[in-house]
Amino acid sequence: MKALQLVGWKQAPELRELPEPEPGPGEVVIEVAAAGACHSDLHLLHDFEEGMVPFEPPFTLGHENAGRVHALGDGVSTGIGGFEVGQPVAVYGPWGCGRCRRCRKGMENYCEHLTEIGAGGGGLGRNGGMAEYMLVPSDRLLVPIGDLDPVLAAPLTDAGLTPYHAIKRSWDLLGAGSTAVVIGCGGLGHMAIQILAATTAAEVVAVDANPAALELARSAGATHTVQPGEDATEQIREATRGRGADVVLDVVGVDDTLALGAAVARPLGHLTIVGIGGGTLGVNFFSVPYELSVATTYWGSLPELMEVIDLAERGQIRPEVSVSPLAEAAETYDRLARGEVRGRAVVTP
Ligand code: NAD
Ligand code: ZN
Ligand code: ZN
Repeated sequence: MKALQLVGWKQAPELRELPEPEPGPGEVVIEVAAAGACHSDLHLLHDFEEGMVPFEPPFTLGHENAGRVHALGDGVSTGIGGFEVGQPVAVYGPWGCGRCRRCRKGMENYCEHLTEIGAGGGGLGRNGGMAEYMLVPSDRLLVPIGDLDPVLAAPLTDAGLTPYHAIKRSWDLLGAGSTAVVIGCGGLGHMAIQILAATTAAEVVAVDANPAALELARSAGATHTVQPGEDATEQIREATRGRGADVVLDVVGVDDTLALGAAVARPLGHLTIVGIGGGTLGVNFFSVPYELSVATTYWGSLPELMEVIDLAERGQIRPEVSVSPLAEAAETYDRLARGEVRGRAVVTP
């Protein structure tokens, strides 16, 4: 089968011929219907080098996947609550040990043994979904998607799940009269705005350098759109009636966006850093509002993925996608790097 692989740090991805995976005991092979192209893959391709993450190339890219169950390994239950060949599923992306306290709560993103496991999941050290078939190490990592289009389900597993988790931890700040600022309105950001609109009473201020992304942000539910620049802070403060933002989601994470986030946040607010832009926020007594909580978040939990899928099944969120075949996956990443993707790019092997 064909698979788009990261073959070495700082090298262009290659479409390679690989043997079809066979499921071992407890494992499941998925026929991939859709794999999202995440900006994190661009960090993997362009920014990362040996020693930065606990895994090494080569591996197949694609950590945002959905498809149909193709083959079940020995011992995978087909009984009550089990899976059947042909069943449509989304793949929960962060693969932990499955046994530690965090994993048993469904938070495999924060597995206690991630360093020892030495991989983040399929597409992050192990073979991912930019291929015709993908091996998933356990059926506990699969979520049924019913009639949901896998092309829409794939982005939900990261572009949907990551902002959902980041927003959910701040739900108590997002009641009537509150404001959330979303910086970066691409794959994750446009879903963040939809999730804020669907699950909170907050008004959403969208910030992006790209006017097309701001237009998408408006249709996703943002009431104010702001381009970064000298008067961005003032525009955002005005949109919050001078109070400042209750929650800022920085889905870019460079120096400028972190500084903007801290400048527009409100005392007692949350500044949540989702983007892996490599920026630094200097923190001292005077540099951030009083009692501002600054946190990074990584992906989300399995129960949260089920909630995200519920939202999509009810039509309350819907990723904006552009679809391309596996043969054009490398070009798709180039388009993402040039900022030419509206919403999420999805590859359909
Ligand atoms: P994307 O390329 O689809 O979207 C990024 C958006 O940010 C674009 O619209 C771009 O115009 C905008 N942007 C870039 N620089 C900007 C700046 N300086 N000011 C304002 N807007 C700017 O990317 P994505 O797939 O949504 O990923 C966004 C970030 O989130 C990436 O850094 C990615 O690695 C990271 N990420 C983190 C997690 C996590 O678990 N924390 C999960 C997935 C992705
Ligand atoms: Zn990702
Ligand atoms: Zn674990």
